[in-house]
Amino acid sequence: MHYLDHAATTPVSQEAAQVMLEVLTRQFGNPSSQYKLGRDAKGVVDAGRAAVANALGCKPEQLFFTSCGTESDNWAIRAALHQNRRVGKHIVTTAVEHSAVLQFVKHLEQEGYAATYVKPDRQGRITAEQIAGVLREDTAVVSVMLVNNETGARFPVEEIAALLKDRPALLHTDAVQGFLKVPFAARSLGADYISVSAHKIGGPKGAGALFAGGKAKNILPLLFGGGQEAGLRPGTEATAQIAGFAKAVELRQSRLEEILRHVAGCRAYALEKLTAIPGLQILGPGDAPHILAASLPGYPSQNIVGELSEKGIYISAGSACHKGKASHVFTAMGLDKKTAAGAIRISFGPETQRADIDALAGALAEHQRTRFPML
Ligand code: PLP
Repeated sequence: MHYLDHAATTPVSQEAAQVMLEVLTRQFGNPSSQYKLGRDAKGVVDAGRAAVANALGCKPEQLFFTSCGTESDNWAIRAALHQNRRVGKHIVTTAVEHSAVLQFVKHLEQEGYAATYVKPDRQGRITAEQIAGVLREDTAVVSVMLVNNETGARFPVEEIAALLKDRPALLHTDAVQGFLKVPFAARSLGADYISVSAHKIGGPKGAGALFAGGKAKNILPLLFGGGQEAGLRPGTEATAQIAGFAKAVELRQSRLEEILRHVAGCRAYALEKLTAIPGLQILGPGDAPHILAASLPGYPSQNIVGELSEKGIYISAGSACHKGKASHVFTAMGLDKKTAAGAIRISFGPETQRADIDALAGALAEHQRTRFPML
């Protein structure tokens, strides 16, 4: 198997899986129970929070566990709008957010909010000036992702935070593709809300977290119930998921420089191999080391994804969530229909080997030779 889709999800390491098994079968108490088994389970949650907060560069009390990045995104935007309900009903976001933000903002428009979707340039970049240009008196929240999941573009969240410093609008950033993939710390980023997800960094699916700091105050609870997560996101804690998330974070953090170097090396190697393939176009600015976007213009990406999967090579058609539709990201970048519909995403992780990239480049070259025998 050649797995080159680490932006979609990542394998869980043996160590993280082992810790999860231990929690599921032995430290299975309810963290709210007052006896030792319960206190031990609470210890798992507290230690997990400390580990994730440490990697994010924030205080443990600023971090709330959720079930996924999508939940964190929805919650942050809803809470920010609630806090600023007297400021107004205007939302600023980009046209290239993950659907976890985009679809929610579209839903909010139906609830009576107004939204402005800032468009990227042809490389997929957004500038802070563009955001400044669309801010209004009634802007309640700005939601701009840290790293785009299809192009790997890194957005200027620090500059946007500086713009909003003396304005009421709260800043949310979806850092699901940035956390432990590009260097940043909550402290210096300046966003009021930051969403992260475990399964993009070697942790289990079904675990995420939301940082709330800066101007975020009187946070609207996501759910109503018991006192878990400071009463803001109640429900018995997913102790095993949290333990697996924390273990994955610790493993990445302890080798972060080495992993980032390795992943950047994979990208550079893949770029060299792929640019030699006739008719293949490289897309995106190449900011994040783990994502390489390309296109086989005129060849629907879901077809190539299917063909490669027959050979045990796994990549995405733009993002894993498209299911056959042309990517909204490449469309928003102003690429022609053929290029947008042929967009593919190759993404790397610590486990990626040169042999995986060689297999992909070989299969793509063969595909192009069959399609264009004259090239
Ligand atoms: N945001 C971005 C940028 C993503 O890439 C993803 C996952 O693909 C999500 C949010 C959603 O995260 P989750 O799968 O944990 O809900």
